[in-house]
Amino acid sequence: MKKNSKNWQTVVVVGAQWGDEGKGKVTDYYAKKTDYVVRFQGGNNAGHTIMHGKHVLKLHLLPSGVLHKHNTVVIGNGVVIDPFVLFAEIQELKKLGINIKLKISERAHLIFPFHILMDTESDQMMAKKNLSALSTQRGIWPTYADKMGRVGIRVVDLLDKQIFKKRFDLLFDLQKKKLSALYHNSKGLNKEKIYQKFVKIGKKIRPLVVDTSIELDQAYNQNKKILFEGAQGAMLDVDHGLYPYTTSSNTIAGAVCAGVGFAPQKIDRVIGVVKAYLSRVGGGCLPTELTDDTGDLIREVGGEYGTTTGRPRRIGWLDLVQLRLAVRVNGLSSLAITKIDILDVLSEVKICTGYKYKGKILKEMPADLSVYEKCQPVFKTFTGWSADYHKTRDYQKLPINMKKYLDFIEKDLGVPIEMVSVGPERNDTILK
Ligand code: GDP
Repeated sequence: MKKNSKNWQTVVVVGAQWGDEGKGKVTDYYAKKTDYVVRFQGGNNAGHTIMHGKHVLKLHLLPSGVLHKHNTVVIGNGVVIDPFVLFAEIQELKKLGINIKLKISERAHLIFPFHILMDTESDQMMAKKNLSALSTQRGIWPTYADKMGRVGIRVVDLLDKQIFKKRFDLLFDLQKKKLSALYHNSKGLNKEKIYQKFVKIGKKIRPLVVDTSIELDQAYNQNKKILFEGAQGAMLDVDHGLYPYTTSSNTIAGAVCAGVGFAPQKIDRVIGVVKAYLSRVGGGCLPTELTDDTGDLIREVGGEYGTTTGRPRRIGWLDLVQLRLAVRVNGLSSLAITKIDILDVLSEVKICTGYKYKGKILKEMPADLSVYEKCQPVFKTFTGWSADYHKTRDYQKLPINMKKYLDFIEKDLGVPIEMVSVGPERNDTILK
């Protein structure tokens, strides 16, 4: 394996917290050097905000690496695809003069309108019971559920009219029955109309479809550089995150292997993107949550409102207990710390080093939510720093108090910081 930060061929960039860590900016930086940018999980429930000149570009399905035109963009089998969103984003990029080279896995599953309706209905029901991570209502979980239930429809099925008809008949009737029985709501679903719309868009998809596992294997053998771009973050991983307040896919680096068909020993590096504080949407415990003026200030200065939904995000201090899990399950080789400039406005900043539970200190995240709810954060407090460092691109010239904060994170997690992002622009980036 080529593990060091200069000599690598494949890199995975993942969120180490709750998503919205600023992965868009970090992947955009690495995508300069790569030949392929690949998504391997999730769907258009993701949301990256990236700057393209003066344009603020919000992408949900396509990876943020698309802005570097030399890259081939791949959507792997682990992604669930709403083809209408896909072509809307392609169109949006065309308007900016960006024509992407896109390849879609024939094994990826498709999102249909009944999946979106099921998602919306169930989310409303779950929200009443306070059990929801707050769904983006894009039909993601019902599509994954149908995939696992082996009634889902893959991209390849759409390319054969007869197979598609047969599978669509089955899935539509099944979903309609479920929606009628559970929510008395299926009237807006017109079978023939949906069928025809998908047949039509299937013709547009056809030229883009390949076996992406073979494509990437060949690229690897030709020494091409590949970037795998994660969506969401480790705490939202359906197995390792704060279940059930998670997303519906595995968001960790290991998901690359299944979500693309790429062998684990070929992955050189895994970069974890860590925001200098926390934000998340949805329910569930968040021990370091700030419900006071400091939280409001960070939310406003940091623009912490959902890219996909516009919802205000919950804010908290950086939590090392959660990050220890992210480091371990992802096998992080380095950290990219983002949005540290947002903390410039504070006179003191805190880091959670453990949880107090029944007189003991927990260093790792409990799976049992009834335990987690009772955990009290233990904080280490740091003096703030002044914002007079913005012209420097030299890590050593960063304010001493900021370096103390960063050094503490690095030391506790035992993972080197590779990059510190000090603003939204491409050049607001400091390499260590
Ligand atoms: P992602 O889903 O992980 O890509 O995160 P988002 O796109 O939701 O959040 C990133 C937002 O923060 C975008 O608006 C970025 O332009 C912005 N951003 C990224 N890094 C920094 C940074 O270091 N400082 C500031 N001020 N903004 C940043």
